[in-house]
Amino acid sequence: MSIVTSKEMFKKAYEGGYAIGAFNVNNMEIIQGITEAAIEEKAPLILQVSSGARKYAKHAYLMKLIEAAIIDAEESAGFDLPICVHLDHGDTFELCKSCIDGGFSSVMIDGSHHSFEDNIKLTRQVVEYAHDHGVVVEGELGRLAGIEDAVNVSAEDASYTRPDEVEEFVAKTGVDSLAIAIGTSHGAYKFTAAQCTRNEKGILVPPPLRFDILEEVTKRLPGFPIVLHGSSSVPQDFVKMINENGGKMPDAVGIPEEQLREAARSAVCKINIDSDLRLAMTGSIRKYFCEHPDHFDPRQYLKPARANIKEIVKHKLVNVLGCAGKA
Ligand SMILES: [Zn+2]
Repeated sequence: MSIVTSKEMFKKAYEGGYAIGAFNVNNMEIIQGITEAAIEEKAPLILQVSSGARKYAKHAYLMKLIEAAIIDAEESAGFDLPICVHLDHGDTFELCKSCIDGGFSSVMIDGSHHSFEDNIKLTRQVVEYAHDHGVVVEGELGRLAGIEDAVNVSAEDASYTRPDEVEEFVAKTGVDSLAIAIGTSHGAYKFTAAQCTRNEKGILVPPPLRFDILEEVTKRLPGFPIVLHGSSSVPQDFVKMINENGGKMPDAVGIPEEQLREAARSAVCKINIDSDLRLAMTGSIRKYFCEHPDHFDPRQYLKPARANIKEIVKHKLVNVLGCAGKA
């Protein structure tokens, strides 16, 4: 088995009423945690790399680690693990080209900060090169709030996707999937207290996703795969673990999992999850350090971090995305 595109994955996900998880990767432990979960749950998988991850770990390291995960799936589980390797938030043609030339099977060109016309032009340029090389492309309309690596959009600059633009965008660019903004947000601080209400435990409850926009987009693009970014749920167990072990993350809050499950049943075929894995890793390491102040072998604290990444990914595959058993 080699690296595959998301074309077949999305077709089956659309028809089957589930979504594929797209998890961000930066290092070996994260890749192992995610892929071991996917192997055990027999789930198709998208591993995505941001430009920040590429700078941190370097392209060749990430590609070889992902190839190693595919070999491990075959050798340890006798399983053909389908993995799509995707560029998250490509912002220039050159970056997309470099990832396509370097073996990625999918790229995102995020032209959402440009005018509608310039977004079309840039996206079209990437699509032409990508399709010539057997690679699929994700475009974006509308702007999510929040911070993710190099992408930083304030609440005032954020805007929902306008359904009346989607047909023209898809027709003129030839993209294979479309990321839309319906109220998800990047990072662990997706909403200000002013945007939320509080539940009886004092935890912030965010405003609901705009399913009306998703429905309108789906009507205009029947059968077309939709992508949701910024879809971590910020599990309060891990926020608590961080805060109880020397961390300080007050009012970190995410998208409720029931809403993501509902989205996964619809035209949404790809759901991006990054912050939840970061929280699992950081919480595990903080707890380990507090409980074992004398330990200094990185394997000792990276092992529980990797195990908790695997657990949370399994939970997402089974209970949120619905893609377990679909590979
Ligand atoms: Zn994103």
